[in-house]
Amino acid sequence: MLEFSDSGYNMANILTGDKMFLEKIVVGQLEANCYIFGDDKTREVVVIDPGGNAVEIIEVIKTNKLRVLAIINTHGHIDHTFDNKALKEYSKCPLLIHEDDREMLTSSFQNLSDFLGYEISVIPPDRLLKDNEIIKVGSFELKVIHTPGHTPGCISLECVGKEIIFTGDTLFAGGIGRTDLPGGSGEKIISSINKRLLIYSDNTIIYPGHGPSSTIGKEKKYNPFLK
Ligand SMILES: [Zn+2]
Ligand SMILES: [Zn+2]
Repeated sequence: MLEFSDSGYNMANILTGDKMFLEKIVVGQLEANCYIFGDDKTREVVVIDPGGNAVEIIEVIKTNKLRVLAIINTHGHIDHTFDNKALKEYSKCPLLIHEDDREMLTSSFQNLSDFLGYEISVIPPDRLLKDNEIIKVGSFELKVIHTPGHTPGCISLECVGKEIIFTGDTLFAGGIGRTDLPGGSGEKIISSINKRLLIYSDNTIIYPGHGPSSTIGKEKKYNPFLK
């Protein structure tokens, strides 16, 4: 299913005057959000979490004449990584994941493909990400925020200065990521959210790994898991 970008990003464009490209595609049986994010002017983008529907993702890339600089996984679960291989074969770009989730990519137990009955076709990462690292995408910068808890190497990605954060399976609208899966920690996810995400301004838009977007302000106020 292809969805047009949330109003939040249009608002961000209006407010900052920057030409951002942001498209959300809901992928796979667990309905993960794949985001194609980048610079509308230079046509350079990154694909965040291609967990399925590679044909549809590639269609958006072709139609919009985009150049994929990197594939970034917010974490190693199969619903966010399933089509890494198909997309890499098409775009010939590097695959990036946090160093602490490296092994998940190739372990069918850890990445849940055994559990979900996926036929796994894995590729190893090309480069490992570290906390606070900056990834340049045209005129935009994505900052890696290590937010462990759902998995050891879960990351969020802040679009620096634009009040936008991709939160993966760490923080959802009205929820938080599961911590009962291999490598999960309830204590760590709460600490990650409090210390690394809720410190952003209330207006900051969050784009989670599943479900609709929200803001830091709304989650601080209404998220029942953060009381
Ligand atoms: Zn997950
Ligand atoms: Zn997920």
